[in-house]
Amino acid sequence: MGDSIDTAMRRVVDHGHFILGPEVGLLEQKLAQFCGADHTVSCGNGTDAISLVLMAENIGPGDAVFMPAFTFVATAEAAAQLGATPYFIDVNADDFAINPDHIDGAVSDARSRGLRPRAIIAVDLFGLPADYARLTATASHHGLVLVADAAQSFGGRYQNHMVGSLADYTTTSFFPSKPLGCYGDGGAIFTNAAPRADLLRSLRFHGKGQDKYDNIRIGMNSRLDTIQAAILLEKLTIFADELELRETVAARYDALLRPHAGKVIRPVVPAGRRSAWALYTLRSPERDAIRNACQAAGIPTNVYYPIPLNRQTGYRNYPVSPAGVPVSEQLAMEVISIPMHPYLTEEDQARIVQAIVGH
Ligand SMILES: *Cc1c(COP(=O)(O)O)cnc(C)c1O
Repeated sequence: MGDSIDTAMRRVVDHGHFILGPEVGLLEQKLAQFCGADHTVSCGNGTDAISLVLMAENIGPGDAVFMPAFTFVATAEAAAQLGATPYFIDVNADDFAINPDHIDGAVSDARSRGLRPRAIIAVDLFGLPADYARLTATASHHGLVLVADAAQSFGGRYQNHMVGSLADYTTTSFFPSKPLGCYGDGGAIFTNAAPRADLLRSLRFHGKGQDKYDNIRIGMNSRLDTIQAAILLEKLTIFADELELRETVAARYDALLRPHAGKVIRPVVPAGRRSAWALYTLRSPERDAIRNACQAAGIPTNVYYPIPLNRQTGYRNYPVSPAGVPVSEQLAMEVISIPMHPYLTEEDQARIVQAIVGH
């Protein structure tokens, strides 16, 4: 896409509307169309997207925000920055998402600690949407706001709905390594409620009212650069095709690894869901040996995530649900993410699998 992206960037440099230029509004429309959400509010990055949502819901000191222990730190950071209490819940071993069965117990426990239960942030880990039917029912039963942290899953699908319209708010990230990545930081929020979208637009722009120098609330400075929007507009034109290609790459890995089920556990995609395949993540008790073998063969791998949030130095004083987080602990020891992108060739995949199973 080199030439079309260069031209798009040049266009922004020429018109000079670097902040909230025309490409930003156009991208917001196209993203909303793509995922079926009524409103899209772009912002500076995926972490700010979560913060803005929590600010829009007035979540702060004394409030509990339930989230999986096995996720990237940004999910907890957004809550902690606002003075709210990140509350860690274990994940399922199959879809790596927050375990809905543990939420009832966590809500009672949070109350007994004097916290107000306010929101669930579900994380669609590695690109696979969580079980939104279950989570929506649980959230509404307890009167909690449901937020989908879809930083890794934009383009995924749950039943007949694209990621973006599955929760009260959906946040995503355009960090370069995410499925739809830009050339720096970027993020967006999706919601179906117009008043929420208006509030988010104010919050991302210093809490503006009628104009920039009329400040009706405390907000922040978090906008998507026009240059990044222009790049994303170009990349969005091939994004649906890239999702198909990721699906093909995942299916090839699945076929190549199936005979080695004793050695590695392949990712599962429950019926009715489609992953955006941000990452292709295996589990194995021999994880570290596999990593070394891959490294020796010149194949990059990574461990997302080696330490659950409840054990991170900055976060270990926050509450953990009464059920504990044994699955998160186990996953931290067993997961390994292997190369995944739309243009991975069959030959490279065969070589990668050989390094994994032949060590
Ligand atoms: C990447 C990521 C974020 C943060 O996105 P940034 O754009 O890097 O701020 C939040 N949550 C999850 C699960 C992520 O993977």
